[in-house]
Amino acid sequence: MKRYDVIVIGAGPAGLAAALKADENGASVLLIEREAKLGGILKQCIHDGFGLTRFNEKLSGPEYANREIEKIKKTGVSINTLTFVTKIEKNDDSFTLTLVTRDGIASVIGTKLILATGCRERTSRQIFIGGTNPSGLMTAGAAQYYINILGKMPTKRCVILGSGDIGLIMARRITLEGGQVLGVYEVKPTPSGLTRNIVQCLDDFNIPLHLSHTVTKVFGCDRLEAVEIAEVDEHMQAIEESKHIVACDALIISVGLIPENEIAEQLKIAINPKTKGPYVDQTLMTFAPHVYSCGNSLHVSDLADYVSESGELAGTYAAKSIQKERDLQEIEIDSHLMYFVPSHLDFKSPTRQVIAYFRSAGEYENATLYIEHDGKTLFKKRYLHLRPPEMERIVFSLSPDLAPATVRVYLEVKP
Ligand SMILES: Cc1cc2nc3c(=O)[nH]c(=O)nc-3n(C[C@H](O)[C@H](O)[C@H](O)COP(=O)(O)OP(=O)(O)OC[C@H]3O[C@@H](n4cnc5c(N)ncnc54)[C@H](O)[C@@H]3O)c2cc1C
Repeated sequence: MKRYDVIVIGAGPAGLAAALKADENGASVLLIEREAKLGGILKQCIHDGFGLTRFNEKLSGPEYANREIEKIKKTGVSINTLTFVTKIEKNDDSFTLTLVTRDGIASVIGTKLILATGCRERTSRQIFIGGTNPSGLMTAGAAQYYINILGKMPTKRCVILGSGDIGLIMARRITLEGGQVLGVYEVKPTPSGLTRNIVQCLDDFNIPLHLSHTVTKVFGCDRLEAVEIAEVDEHMQAIEESKHIVACDALIISVGLIPENEIAEQLKIAINPKTKGPYVDQTLMTFAPHVYSCGNSLHVSDLADYVSESGELAGTYAAKSIQKERDLQEIEIDSHLMYFVPSHLDFKSPTRQVIAYFRSAGEYENATLYIEHDGKTLFKKRYLHLRPPEMERIVFSLSPDLAPATVRVYLEVKP
């Protein structure tokens, strides 16, 4: 059975960056991807705006992915596409992976694992819309796949439910392809997507955004014919008198992404309910020694550039780490924060620089983020605006003599 120092599962931007860095740091690396081509979701994101941080350029998704794919081709990384990881078993000092390939079932052994399996979209089944289940009911990612990969228009006249970024991007794409987007309906009183996407994808194309509204029912047998729209009250309950019918041939759902972690669950790796990805320390190692998590399977990032950065961290630490013992301390967060990654700090780790990502729980102006260790401030940063859709990145250091103690992160918010 072939054996590798590092096996990376998933070849989206996170997995590509992880494999590149693990290789650069001297590890023998196997990169496994279930699809025929490398690049993950970026293959279908043909709009631009990728790579501003990483390459200082405005690239489309495929261009961004190709930069990494070209680099990886020049390395010693072994690549298995059309290969699906179905089972992972833990041995004393390694992991045995069962793979389904075009040639049948195969097995490989890896000393370290990097999970870079991305995320998936919430579907209509997960948000309880009443009525029938006709064709024309699809996620924004599915609409993106139809138009950008298959070259087929899935709608002439649609309604978009949810103001997540993929839905906003698809509102613009459908309009540019000659379709009509009647409106984007968001149940919350604030948009879920980035401000730049609201402006560039809705405002610039006169597509209305209806906040505090939802779809309560769909109609149609074979094909969707109409949806019922309702305004919601402050408890997000539909207001009966506001209900009205809108005729359309598609309902495109963009109500959030969920990290894909079946493999982590198979390994009984603890999942953080706040991020839906594994708990990790500053090296992105999960609670399972030698198993790392990165990219959107760790937490949903708003930019592919941050996804690649987390892949690089996981790849570097997986290749370099020889540490046996850990002293994990939880990072406590206050209710003004939606989440903070890493969730833990390992005080025995030689890695003292911490790259962290967080999202606020609400919209705040003039807020200050504090990181405290044993009651003393380690890091402080003031923000003019914080919004949950916009992920923030910070870097702070742990001095080598810092004793293990609880670390608290909180936002001081001006009323
Ligand atoms: C439908 C959809 C549309 C999106 N559209 C946009 C967009 O327009 N713009 C944007 O900025 N972001 C978009 N995103 C967010 C996007 O996920 C990130 O920008 C980025 O691609 C995440 O990188 P990643 O490497 O973490 O995951 P991904 O790019 O999702 O890559 C994960 C890879 O892992 C593979 N994989 C998963 N499980 C296994 C397994 N068991 N065995 C083998 N391989 C496996 C998958 O096939 C996939 O190639 C979208 C996300 C989704 C789900």
